[in-house]
Amino acid sequence: MTPLFEPRLLNPPFGDPALYVKLQGEGTALLFDLGDISRVSAGLLFKITEVFISHTHIDHFVGIDHLLRLNLARDRVLHLYGPPGIIVNMTGKLKGYTWNLTENYPFMLDVHEIGSRSIKTRRFACRDKFKPGPVQRMPFNGTVVNNPHYCVKTRQLDHNGIPSLAYRLEEHCHININRDALNKLGLPVGSWLQTLKKNIREGCPETTFVSVPMENDSLPKQIPLGELVSQIVHITPGEVIAYVSDCGATPSNKKKIRGLADKADHFFCEAAFLERDHEKALNRGHLTAWQAGQLARESGAKRLTAFHFSPRYESLPDEPATEAMDSFYGK
Ligand SMILES: [Zn+2]
Ligand SMILES: [Zn+2]
Repeated sequence: MTPLFEPRLLNPPFGDPALYVKLQGEGTALLFDLGDISRVSAGLLFKITEVFISHTHIDHFVGIDHLLRLNLARDRVLHLYGPPGIIVNMTGKLKGYTWNLTENYPFMLDVHEIGSRSIKTRRFACRDKFKPGPVQRMPFNGTVVNNPHYCVKTRQLDHNGIPSLAYRLEEHCHININRDALNKLGLPVGSWLQTLKKNIREGCPETTFVSVPMENDSLPKQIPLGELVSQIVHITPGEVIAYVSDCGATPSNKKKIRGLADKADHFFCEAAFLERDHEKALNRGHLTAWQAGQLARESGAKRLTAFHFSPRYESLPDEPATEAMDSFYGK
């Protein structure tokens, strides 16, 4: 099975948070938090269509300038999701620059501010010198994005008195192609399989014809969707990725994290402190590596990556990850 999500942290675990999730076969990517990304190749960054911010501490948001600059001359809309205050934060950032030579640039940034009951959106268009557009409001029930491929859910955690959003990325279902069955039917591998998957995700009727280009230059075959689904498709549950950064180990936060990371295939969790400094961690609104491991285990996560280690432990570079894994595996 080829997974849809290919997650990777863009920086080492002592660096700024930025989790890049490539969507296989789609040519696009999602980003969770936006720390320093100046060393990341433009090719990777251009693929990003949606950015999800936990909170606007500088180590989680400083990369927005770099991403904006890269995209400025491109004809596209970039979506930025974040906690209460993100629209004011973005307005302030954009006001910090002069926009008199960019009137012909088509780039637009849609900023979605996730409140407790609604999502407030404002569009910032380059051709309007990034003056915020009218406010649009949508009801919010825990899900911020829902499209035929995946959905993104969020919960608001407490991070030393400010809201910090944790995210859960869920693929609705995973569509696997049986290559042996494909070969037996004499059908080629190719981009038509992406169209087939798209038709299934969008719930097209079984009678919809799928055009299958044939290798020997003969005319494409028109095969009903239902026939292909029964012969070459195997549908399995979708993948889940959970992302948590930054928050203290309060009872309320822990309960929300366990729900958000429930049975996640891959859980990315901040682990700023070592357990021996747990009082400092709580005072600063952060988790310890041991707590990250416990939360991952209690959530039933299959895999844990602990990250966002405090620079105070740089002389012991392996210790935070080892502590998190010992806790995760119940050692
Ligand atoms: Zn923070
Ligand atoms: Zn942080």
